[in-house]
Amino acid sequence: MTYILSAAKLQTYYRCPLSYYFRYERRVPGAAFFSSAALGTSLHQALAHIYQDWHYNDAIPHLDWVEQCWGQQLNGLTPAQVTQGRAILQRYYTSFIQSESAMRRPVAVEGRIQGTLQVENLEFVLSGRYDRLDYLDEGLELIDYKSSKDSDLTLPDEIDLQIGLYYLALEQRYQRDLKRLSVIYLRSSEKISYEVTNEHRQRVEAMIADLAVQLRYDHKWVPFPGGQCDRCAYARYCPAMQADPEPIPDEAKPEAGLQLVLSL
Ligand code: SF4
Repeated sequence: MTYILSAAKLQTYYRCPLSYYFRYERRVPGAAFFSSAALGTSLHQALAHIYQDWHYNDAIPHLDWVEQCWGQQLNGLTPAQVTQGRAILQRYYTSFIQSESAMRRPVAVEGRIQGTLQVENLEFVLSGRYDRLDYLDEGLELIDYKSSKDSDLTLPDEIDLQIGLYYLALEQRYQRDLKRLSVIYLRSSEKISYEVTNEHRQRVEAMIADLAVQLRYDHKWVPFPGGQCDRCAYARYCPAMQADPEPIPDEAKPEAGLQLVLSL
């Protein structure tokens, strides 16, 4: 009886249990997501290449190495995106490589993490992805790159949940504590770091325990209206938004009865 849980799922549950139910329990189709992710994907791959394949015989690579890595990630990009991506990586090089006495070899790049947690006789599989994982003297630093033009709408509480989930999963995989989570905004070359405490772990455990009770017994999935409702893809089905909400479409996943829940 396992239940896969990611930071995104936990953050959705925190924002609104009913939207979690629509999205993950019933798989109600949401609004189409339009985004040109090609530039972001190329930037992520170039950065993975820069750190993973550098020979580390010199303290830091020359800018040529960054150019070379970028040159291998241009498939599917427009000329404007090629120029934009190169400029972004040049700024990254100045801010985060050239300014250091040595480029640190990461533990891993573009990795997956997985851990488990037993609550209410459910085994939660905690899963996540990261862009880079570095050793610090006293633990681990997880680094995420953000390439989006849009401002980051993640709330501090939601970041805390992501940190807690990674903490639990990394502890099992590496037997080391996650000490810091850093987000690098590639377009502005800004780095924001969050120091990890035991409270992050306790918070995420409490949130997962709450979710376990919903899945096992309550099935209440209470709507939690707030600022997020403006961009909620499920507002038309939501009793907190509509006096007469539309029925969930037929193509949604059937309602999980108790037996289905028990076989999650
Ligand atoms: S509209 Fe708001 S309250 Fe309703 S499901 Fe979406 S986020 Fe929750």
